[in-house]
Amino acid sequence: MQYHLNGFRPGDPQWFEDGRKNVCAPGTLPDKTDVLIVGCGPAGLTLAAQLAAFPEIETLIVERKPGPLQKGQADGISCRSMEMFNAFGFAEQILKQACWVNETTFWKPDHRAPTTITRNGRVQDVADGLSEMPHVILNQARVHDMYLELMRKSPSRLEPVYAISVTDIVLSPQADPTYPVEATLARLIDDVPTGEQITVRARYVVGCDGARSTVRKAIDRELIGDSANQAWGVMDVLAVTDFPDIRCKSLIQSAFEGNIIIIPREGGYLTRLYIELDKLTEGERIRNRHIGIDDLIGAAQRIFRPYHFDVKEVVWWSVYEIGQRLTDKFDEVPQAAVAHQLPHIFICGDACHTHSPKAGQGMNVSMGDAFNLGWKLIAVMKGISPPDILHTYSEERQSVAQDLINFDREWSRIMSERPELNDDSQENEPKFQRYFIQHGHYTAGMSVTYQPSRLTGIATWQELARGFIVGSRFHSAPVVRLADIKPVQLGHVIKSDARWRIFIFAADEDPYQASSAVNRLCSYLCEDTHSPLNRFTPPGGDCDEVFDVRVIFQQAASELKLDQLSPYLLPRKGQYGLIDYEKIFCPDLKSGSDIFSVRGINRAAGAVVVVRPDQYVAHILPLQAVDQLSAFFAGFMLPVNKG
Ligand SMILES: Cc1cc2nc3c(=O)[nH]c(=O)nc-3n(C[C@H](O)[C@H](O)[C@H](O)COP(=O)(O)OP(=O)(O)OC[C@H]3O[C@@H](n4cnc5c(N)ncnc54)[C@H](O)[C@@H]3O)c2cc1C
Repeated sequence: MQYHLNGFRPGDPQWFEDGRKNVCAPGTLPDKTDVLIVGCGPAGLTLAAQLAAFPEIETLIVERKPGPLQKGQADGISCRSMEMFNAFGFAEQILKQACWVNETTFWKPDHRAPTTITRNGRVQDVADGLSEMPHVILNQARVHDMYLELMRKSPSRLEPVYAISVTDIVLSPQADPTYPVEATLARLIDDVPTGEQITVRARYVVGCDGARSTVRKAIDRELIGDSANQAWGVMDVLAVTDFPDIRCKSLIQSAFEGNIIIIPREGGYLTRLYIELDKLTEGERIRNRHIGIDDLIGAAQRIFRPYHFDVKEVVWWSVYEIGQRLTDKFDEVPQAAVAHQLPHIFICGDACHTHSPKAGQGMNVSMGDAFNLGWKLIAVMKGISPPDILHTYSEERQSVAQDLINFDREWSRIMSERPELNDDSQENEPKFQRYFIQHGHYTAGMSVTYQPSRLTGIATWQELARGFIVGSRFHSAPVVRLADIKPVQLGHVIKSDARWRIFIFAADEDPYQASSAVNRLCSYLCEDTHSPLNRFTPPGGDCDEVFDVRVIFQQAASELKLDQLSPYLLPRKGQYGLIDYEKIFCPDLKSGSDIFSVRGINRAAGAVVVVRPDQYVAHILPLQAVDQLSAFFAGFMLPVNKG
């Protein structure tokens, strides 16, 4: 973490200086705001936490509930979400508090005694090298707490306003073209409207308001999909059991009593069980079945046979229905109007897609939606990019959600199939075990690959850096920071700060020669009036305000002399012109993991790897392709007026 740039400040560096211009009195709401976020679930908080770093953007986040979530709901955190948490700066806290999923075990009916179960297999949960982050389990409420703390300490001091329900959203640009969306809010006490109605106008409204989204309905979008819902029972319990895999994620298929997914939970004692209940008929609601906690415990005990499962405390339980459903577009602009209408109302997370909890994707994909939208809103409101880039949010995330629905539909079908009772072979993997293993990349959150667009280049030069797939998330690897010889993960330089990263992997050449490809590229970036740094960085700010350039040399740190490298790699920043020493890296040869080898960088040619603010690889280019680099950014950035 870097701090003290603009002068020494004592105390916790994670408490940023208060940067707000307008402060509302406690309990009051502004008449106008730049962004109104509806809902404090994982999607709303991911978006709010991004925006909170920019006090010049006024953000209001409201939530119907009276206060923060305490327990229940989702708990699976994929490797990809952990990478994103790292950008927010709280991955380490999660690593400490969460339960790590190392192995998943599979159980099926014992063919010798089909009313009992037997272990059929165990597999490593995340393939080696997929991510530097593990797959972990932690309650959604704790994840919310991390975001809330980050927001509280941010320059915006952003706090949600609870007990406020959004009841209507209307696009009315004629009333105020700068704040074209009008939201009607109702104050609640104990979940009941007090009768007080408040109107707030916003430049943008983002509905992160869950499966029954009011914002989605206001923009006339529907969740379309299965007409019948799958009913689920879920319980978080403290229990005593002789089932040996209770601390592993386990999938159990019984012969006659249904299926259970065991999720070992944080803290070492808590366990979550998902119990698949019946399919509901069209329009049927689960609450009409009057299923109670005793029914869930009874079902679990029957499935666990011959093992015992003695519940000592029920922490949280729920019975709920889920269908695989998706909206066709994640903003209010009709497809036919995209060329001439700009979006102002968006929906994220469960408001756009619903699916079963079996694949553990609910919280993850929802946060991914918001992380995709957040930096785009910031870029538009800061005047870095034109507002039409906001169309890419729906374009990119709708297809991610479609993949999720397809995956979940297939996974649910396979999990619900009756197991083969006469299969006595322990080597024979049941279908659900095979499918789970084949799709590990997907469930880890790594399968998202954005297609070529204004924001993602065509992979013409993919061969220069085979391990950084254009359109996919930047796959971190170990490096050594030259100035202080600290082993670090290169991907961890990416913070949730809406900046673009340009990673320059040096060619195999003398790094001190002014004519080396790295030095010529650095000179171009810093001196040439056509370079993206000069065209798109606002005057007066730090040179890395929009683009964060980092160079990785091939030589070991011991072979490089910092003071003889290009001065552009030691930029001067802040009010004192202090030197930023954290732009230069070398391979971590001690760990035996040379980033040039593990990520397939062409040593002779080097490579430029451009990474989006949401950690996805946007482009790969040769070191000499300066015109293409500039043209790429010119496709979605606005030149600044240096006059
Ligand atoms: C009761 C429940 C149990 C769940 N259990 C599981 C589970 O066991 N496992 C699992 O993987 N997933 C579970 N999920 C789903 C998982 O929590 C979601 O996939 C995930 O939270 C999606 O995040 P989100 O931010 O899109 O929506 P949500 O987490 O649903 O957040 C939406 C928020 O918006 C608020 N809101 C709604 N309407 C308004 C309004 N008009 N005005 C103001 N605020 C509003 C809601 O109160 C809520 O806090 C559960 C969801 C619910 C609702």
